[in-house]
Amino acid sequence: MFITYEEFSRRADHVRADLAAACVAAGRDPQEVGLLAVTKTHPVAAVEYVARYGLPAVGENRVQEGIEKRAQTGAEVRWELIGHLQSNKARLAAAHFDRVQSVDSEKLLLLLDRAAGEAGRILPVLLQINAGRDPAKFGAELEDAPRLLDTALVQSHLRVEGLMTIAPLSDDASAAPRTFATLRELRDRLTGETGSPLRELSMGMSGDFAAAIAAGSTLVRIGTALFGSREPAA
Ligand SMILES: *Cc1c(COP(=O)(O)O)cnc(C)c1O
Repeated sequence: MFITYEEFSRRADHVRADLAAACVAAGRDPQEVGLLAVTKTHPVAAVEYVARYGLPAVGENRVQEGIEKRAQTGAEVRWELIGHLQSNKARLAAAHFDRVQSVDSEKLLLLLDRAAGEAGRILPVLLQINAGRDPAKFGAELEDAPRLLDTALVQSHLRVEGLMTIAPLSDDASAAPRTFATLRELRDRLTGETGSPLRELSMGMSGDFAAAIAAGSTLVRIGTALFGSREPAA
């Protein structure tokens, strides 16, 4: 059984209070940090809860799942793709998502640009960087980020809004803060070199958002804390 709206609303109130507390602790204005509700694996009701509560966007990690849910609801939210994107799904992603956060190769940039052009739109994107150097994570290597950004900036149907990363799963409590600081430093350096503001820093999830906010996150992607575990109960 999926949670009720009342349960969701209680959880969302908690999450927002926790985010605000993390902002205050970091000396930041809570208005600077957006909340992306990650609805992957959850029923379309999750998306409707998000809209009813008044959050602006949902994150899905699979193209097909996102498209199917979007077709099932008129909920007024933006749809963001946060999961690994395969080349053969680039066209669908460009047509059905409002932003793609998981762009990690020049090949994908070119495919998305072409697809967005054919769809007659400008597609907002984030570049996903493997800032934690985690062999289990997707994302461009840190060394490749400048070239990836240069390529992204000359595509006429893409708008590069910032960077995204996922911290490594690790027993080392300093791994996530280090990863987030690395992405922030990379952003500052790339902005200095290119003049592109790269305003959005999408980093932080249910388990590590406070560290991400301390490091400058502008968008936390939260699933579990809003909807409960994605694993079916044993
Ligand atoms: C699933 C997912 C999240 C949300 O993770 P929680 O730990 O459930 O908050 C955030 N970002 C990405 C890229 C994800 O795939």
